[in-house]
Amino acid sequence: MNLGDELATLADENLLRRRRVAGSPCGPEMVIDGRTLISFASNDYLGLAADPQLIEAAAEGARHWGVGAGASHFLGGHFAPHQQLEERLAAFVGAERALLFSTGYMANLGIVPALAGRGDVIFADKLNHASLIDAVRLALAFSHRYPHLDLAVLEGQLTANRAKQRLILTDAVFSMDGDIAPLPQLLALAERYDAWLLLDDAHGFGVLGPQGRGTAAQFGLTPTKRLLVMGTLGKAAGVAGAFVAGDAEVIDWLEQKARTAIYTTAAPPLLTFALLESLKLIEAGDERREHLQALIARLRAGLQPICARHGWRLAPSTTAIQPLVIGGNPEALGVADALMARGIWAPAIRPPTVPAGQARLRISLSAAHSEAHVDRLVDALVEIAA
Ligand code: PMP
Repeated sequence: MNLGDELATLADENLLRRRRVAGSPCGPEMVIDGRTLISFASNDYLGLAADPQLIEAAAEGARHWGVGAGASHFLGGHFAPHQQLEERLAAFVGAERALLFSTGYMANLGIVPALAGRGDVIFADKLNHASLIDAVRLALAFSHRYPHLDLAVLEGQLTANRAKQRLILTDAVFSMDGDIAPLPQLLALAERYDAWLLLDDAHGFGVLGPQGRGTAAQFGLTPTKRLLVMGTLGKAAGVAGAFVAGDAEVIDWLEQKARTAIYTTAAPPLLTFALLESLKLIEAGDERREHLQALIARLRAGLQPICARHGWRLAPSTTAIQPLVIGGNPEALGVADALMARGIWAPAIRPPTVPAGQARLRISLSAAHSEAHVDRLVDALVEIAA
């Protein structure tokens, strides 16, 4: 393969990605490539990534525990703050036990192969996050993908496959569409066909459910023997890392078998210090969540009329992820560039992250945004659409 040619092809197809350099902390207004922009790019849904209380907690954690864990969890890198955080997370989501991972990507790569091996079967929603897709590749199990949210097809696949272990995988909130999986129906199928259900709640943890306990909690569900919840800690929680929660036995098993939790240096305990503080702010964060909901409604009300006129499609999302589907790659990039020229950053998402022909702006709202920020975005899009 000639990499130069391949890169040139990507450029021709408007598929080259470019990292923009941030010169200020994560927030609603950021210095990007030297210019101050209103940013709708982060997953900092509660505005905690640069919160002074978390910064202080991280500094305090560093003073007490240093900056590095020095080893993996089994070889001396499991510090008191890690243990405390696992216990707090389990209690917060109503589970018997939780296990920490360094990132959500690593959590999925570790959990899935530990639960489904040779001779087992995995059932996965087609729009699941890349980390779940890669986790299926890493597992030695047979796998089926079902069309997005199509529970009839999923049930057909479950009926046809009588493997001993079955595992259903789904994003709880889909990362590029913002829609929510029908968890009670999925759990009912998991029960009927004796399967595990693993929810990836990267975008629900901290934002949805009472006190931000997550998407399962929004449906009145808690992690169990059958229902495993993976939550990430670098989005609403504002820091980094991830956890999986479930009943004690399944988490004991994952502690023994999830390779991405075993063969890696534990996250710096200073981060877990910041996360313990973050959990307090999440739990007490109803005002932030209400403000976020009001911004979501304001954005949708502002964008509906231009969509109707312009052939754009505002995805039917009730969450902080508000995708504006434009269609072609150059068109989506054109709208993102036009926004950028007006001082606004809403990234264009192209294939393979989303299906071909469905390139979109992924507008991500945060409780740190003001109504004025949202109005600036709507006004700019009205102008661009004209
Ligand atoms: N799952 C989903 C649904 C995600 O959107 C992401 C991050 N984009 C991840 C997992 C990975 O989490 P992390 O960023 O902590 O690796």
